[in-house]
Amino acid sequence: MDCLFCKIAAGEIPSTKVYEDDTVLAFNDINPEAPVHILLIPKEHICCAAEITAENSAVVAHIFEVAAKIAHDMGFADGFRIVNNCGDSAGQTVKHLHFHLMAGREFGWPAG
Ligand code: AMP
Ligand code: ZN
Repeated sequence: MDCLFCKIAAGEIPSTKVYEDDTVLAFNDINPEAPVHILLIPKEHICCAAEITAENSAVVAHIFEVAAKIAHDMGFADGFRIVNNCGDSAGQTVKHLHFHLMAGREFGWPAG
């Protein structure tokens, strides 16, 4: 399968790793939209949030545990944002499930 984030998870394409374990990888976004912009991915290929099921959702819960650990470890005292884009209309450009963990600036709502 020709999937960019599968290749990053396999180490075939380099990334700036922030956290890694058996099932989850976190690395810096190549085009940051905030002073801290980390992507959290399952190592297994799940295309998008619409494909989360009872069978594969444990890794999604684990991703949120890892996000909280990173937030504590990096000291996101003022808060942080976690974003998932699912599908073309939401702007998902890489079709491997990922969560954007962003911090270090003020965030608008619902956009920005
Ligand atoms: P999305 O638009 O939600 O699918 O997010 C995809 C993200 O992947 C974007 O924020 C890109 O900047 C980021 N990205 C694309 N290629 C790479 C790469 N090789 N290393 C790190 N981040 C990447
Ligand atoms: Zn993939």
